[in-house]
Amino acid sequence: MSIIVQKYGGTSVADVEHIKSVAQRLCDTQDRGNQVVAVISAMGNSTDRLLRMAHEISADPPERELDMLFSTGERISVALLAMAISELGHEAISLSGAQAGIHTTTSHTRARITDIDSRRLSETLDSGKIVLVAGFQGISPDEDITTLGRGGSDTTAVALAGALRADECEIYTDVEGVFSADPNLVPGAVKLDAVSYEEMLEMAASGAEVLMLRSVEYAQRYGIPLRVRSSFSDDPGTLVKEEDEKMEKAVVSAITHTENESKLTLLRVPDKPGIAATVFGALADAEVNVDMIIQNVSEQGTTDISFTVVQDELPAAQQALDRICDELGTAYIIGEQMGKVSIVGAGMKSYPGVAARMFRALADHDINIEMISTSSIKVSCVIERAQVEKAVRVLHEAFSLEE
Ligand code: ADP
Ligand code: ASP
Ligand code: MG
Repeated sequence: MSIIVQKYGGTSVADVEHIKSVAQRLCDTQDRGNQVVAVISAMGNSTDRLLRMAHEISADPPERELDMLFSTGERISVALLAMAISELGHEAISLSGAQAGIHTTTSHTRARITDIDSRRLSETLDSGKIVLVAGFQGISPDEDITTLGRGGSDTTAVALAGALRADECEIYTDVEGVFSADPNLVPGAVKLDAVSYEEMLEMAASGAEVLMLRSVEYAQRYGIPLRVRSSFSDDPGTLVKEEDEKMEKAVVSAITHTENESKLTLLRVPDKPGIAATVFGALADAEVNVDMIIQNVSEQGTTDISFTVVQDELPAAQQALDRICDELGTAYIIGEQMGKVSIVGAGMKSYPGVAARMFRALADHDINIEMISTSSIKVSCVIERAQVEKAVRVLHEAFSLEE
């Protein structure tokens, strides 16, 4: 008997009718002779709604309480789904992350899974029940409820698939798979039949939110193939797996983007050893994730350091810089409304001139590049947020990605 883990995102369980159709899908999967585990997200945008309410009460809500609050969203979904499955004459049991044996670090709102005790899951599967696990949550060593960061139900699903040595891990969402650009932004975007882990990691890291980055890291580490597909159709979707010879290595497979970057520039810092260590040490202590970094040395013995952070982390970054700027004898400026556009493709490694083509296409459309970073299979440009959507369409066309 095969073990199948399926994950359903918020739009797939947005209301009672959707929950009933997910219930039907799960019963059908079991009827085909499989043991079924389903990881479920909170209904629709309910996590956003919970966060808004918390912020109506407090500008800086305690993170432990945020986790208690967030975790309720996915528990509502699993409980309702269990009832819907029972109405269809099948047996199901809903479990919170803690009940499912998901142990995490104590970092509230961004915890990492440390261990999964899958005994209860296995026993319940063997008893013939469909197991429904509330996504994106676990329990810390202090026995507090934790959550795994936005989009974290993907990670729950992949981690459970690994722990149970599942035969398949399917991620059901509101689009038919992984596309050459966000299909909600670029109508001509094409669905990719297969994507390597390496490409998917770069895509997820540069803004393709269809899979949470950490879920892809997990899948690659444990060699779990993922199928991303729509809960509204029977299309086979996109298979994310280890690269093989048969896979077409497109020079550029996809254009990704983010619209929530802020840029900080430290002006005229002394050009001497230890400055970058001080600046980024202070940011690390404040748990700020820095994305792109650029440092220019001038002839006058000072240097400007620019870097980007996600906008949510801007206040924490500013606080950290305020503490060290006096000591360094420097000041900083902020570009709040920034975004990033990237091209990703495994074939780029052995193909010169790809970056130049990207820069030319942006220049031809009057889009100014403020920062650039590259990896062997990705080129990213930080640009003004207002120009991101246009840039994505321009690059999609420039690299002939449409059908
Ligand atoms: P879920 O609630 O199912 O987890 P998400 O909203 O997290 O769904 O992810 C699906 C969304 O990801 C799509 O609706 C789409 O707008 C967005 N997306 C961004 N880039 C891509 C891409 N390259 N391919 C597919 N979807 C993408
Ligand atoms: N409900 C959570 C979120 O909106 C987790 C998830 O859907 O994956 O981020
Ligand atoms: Mg998601």
